[in-house]
Amino acid sequence: MLFGRAKKNPIKLPDKEIVEWKYTTCGYCSTGCSIEVGVNAEGKGVSARGVGGADVNRGKLCIKGIYEFELFDSSGRGEQPLLRDKTFEPFRQVSWDAALDRTAAEIQRIQQHYGRDSFAILSTGQILTEEFYTLGKLARGVIGTNNYDGNTTLCMSSAVSGYKRSFGSDGPPGCYGDFEHTDCLIAFGSNLPEQHPIIYWRMREARERRKFPLIVVDPRVTMLAQFADLHLPITPGTDVVLLNALAHVILSEGLEDRVYIDAHTSGCADFRALVAQYDPVTASRICGIDADTIRNVARLYARAGAAMSIWTMGINQSTHGSDGVVGINNLNLITGNIGRPGGTSLSITGQCNAMGTREWSSCSGLPGYRYLESAHYREEVARFWGVDPEFFPNKRGLLMTDIFPAIETGQIKGLWVIATNPMTSMANTARIRKTLEKLEFLVVQDAYRDVETIEYAHAYLPAGLWAEKEGVMTNTERRVNLIRNVLTPHGDSRPDLWIFNQMAKRFAQGRQMRFPEAPSEVFDEMRELSRGRLVDISGMSHEKIEQQRGIQWPMRDGAETGSPRLYTDGVFQHADGKAKLIPLPFVDDNERPDEQFPFWLNSGRVVEHFHTRTRTGKIGNQNKFSPTPYMEMNPDAARALGIEHMSYARLVSRRGDAVALVQLTQRVGRDMVFIPFHFHECVNRLSLGLLDPHSRQPAFKQCAVRIERIEQQDAAAVINRAARTF
Ligand code: SF4
Repeated sequence: MLFGRAKKNPIKLPDKEIVEWKYTTCGYCSTGCSIEVGVNAEGKGVSARGVGGADVNRGKLCIKGIYEFELFDSSGRGEQPLLRDKTFEPFRQVSWDAALDRTAAEIQRIQQHYGRDSFAILSTGQILTEEFYTLGKLARGVIGTNNYDGNTTLCMSSAVSGYKRSFGSDGPPGCYGDFEHTDCLIAFGSNLPEQHPIIYWRMREARERRKFPLIVVDPRVTMLAQFADLHLPITPGTDVVLLNALAHVILSEGLEDRVYIDAHTSGCADFRALVAQYDPVTASRICGIDADTIRNVARLYARAGAAMSIWTMGINQSTHGSDGVVGINNLNLITGNIGRPGGTSLSITGQCNAMGTREWSSCSGLPGYRYLESAHYREEVARFWGVDPEFFPNKRGLLMTDIFPAIETGQIKGLWVIATNPMTSMANTARIRKTLEKLEFLVVQDAYRDVETIEYAHAYLPAGLWAEKEGVMTNTERRVNLIRNVLTPHGDSRPDLWIFNQMAKRFAQGRQMRFPEAPSEVFDEMRELSRGRLVDISGMSHEKIEQQRGIQWPMRDGAETGSPRLYTDGVFQHADGKAKLIPLPFVDDNERPDEQFPFWLNSGRVVEHFHTRTRTGKIGNQNKFSPTPYMEMNPDAARALGIEHMSYARLVSRRGDAVALVQLTQRVGRDMVFIPFHFHECVNRLSLGLLDPHSRQPAFKQCAVRIERIEQQDAAAVINRAARTF
């Protein structure tokens, strides 16, 4: 008698008749996985696999990377430029010349009539670094608007601001390799297994080998919290209090690295005086973590041979986001955990090229981490580009979250939106809709024709997607990775670089400046501008980057490879070469639950989807596993309201309402609900999004709602209404 396998049909993998595997890098999250796309004889992308020799992912991919090749043929791709005179009229298909001429004419009309800064540009973390650099040159050197920013303000500006305040420059100092050396890891508001699965896998492998303690600080019992040695379910928005209390214990018990503090930091006396007020008992009443746990974590961290902190949106998306980052940096500075193997402050970034825009887009200044406020830098870049230095503003303009209120008040009349979807990603959807309707001219440049923001546009420019283009992106650990163009752009869509170059030709100043067409030539310009900077890439080329499967900056001319860590010599970017210890008084300034709205609303990601589902919403398997918005709710809280598992419930905030499918779980406490943020018809109808004063990043993760039982037959009508009224 035969048992088991012998009786079963063997598993057969379909032969996809792949004729070539083409090297590129995943275009979703900031992990930076090297990926090969299998192309068949007809030139179609039909499969994907991780690249074994790549240090980042060592052959692995998450579900998004595995199915990414399906994007090439996904529905909703833009094929032809579109124009219309008024919003809500039908679009008409036009030639590229017609679309670009009209867009350039509208920019010039608005600027002549209302002033240069009345036309704003909103960029992204998704396009390639050469494209960012070229857009920056166009925005700063040709169009000349100071109201130019990226959607990275929604996810990373607190990290940028915190790094600048502490170290004098942006730039994450550590790397994934630090997991292999650390003796203690704290993860603040970072659910790695769902947000960055491959970084999680790197961390887990290191932890299995070396058994270092993992401490997770998160209001929710996330997947990472379930694997932690210690979970600290902090009261939302109070990370600064916990961080001050950890520093209090370390300094009061003499556990600090005195030699490092004296040699490499400034401001210790003021810092010490401030944290003296945050003893563990006082802090526990605000942040909800008991005093003994605070003492225990502080001692564990300070006594570890090397200790590191990672964080994501749980820190950044708060009214104290920048302070939270500075607080983490303070903790690592007083324990001497910067620039050494296993000791770091590592912000895990969000989008695939959030770092590229920070380094080279000129959104927050000028390329290569140069400040607009410096006459020397303005002169240097102006000479390199061939423009008058007086053409540059001498300070940064509005950030993304301030551009929308400026449209409301009539200060901004025209907007160019590039690969971002504010109708879904911004807080308070109803307000954003009314804001976009006020624009005299809105042009949207995106790979997809069906993103919600296009409903309010006068012009649409179809752009190439991910590996339909060529260039580099920088990942979380400063690794510059290469994207080879696996396929040509869909329909008559064009690479973003081509679109920016064509736009430059439509301005007198742009015709006088050099705008190279080949990505490698643009990279050469960036290399020259990077010499001697912290972000020095002068030793890199596209070929070397591909050979080494990514290279970490800085890599100076003549070096064999890049540098895994910054500040290894303890010299920072402030004028005195020291890092700053900054006192962080806590002011409780966000919306909190009250009698009328008794629940915290927390939001986050699921592993299947990326951002506003512009892409993952088109992929069969991703939608199969995560088809609909849902709400995690505590069973006790649900019982009190008569709400059942897998029923629909209504959420109401001071901004609006939404309906979600209820999943009962102990992952959230009695006073909190959690909703994935990817779905247009849900979380941002409710969110408030107060802004951090330093970074202007919205507090997406903390606002107050009430929950109402809803008749199930009403739910479908409400969901349909929500979907229609974007
Ligand atoms: Fe792509 Fe991020 Fe998944 Fe890697 S972890 S395959 S970069 S989405």
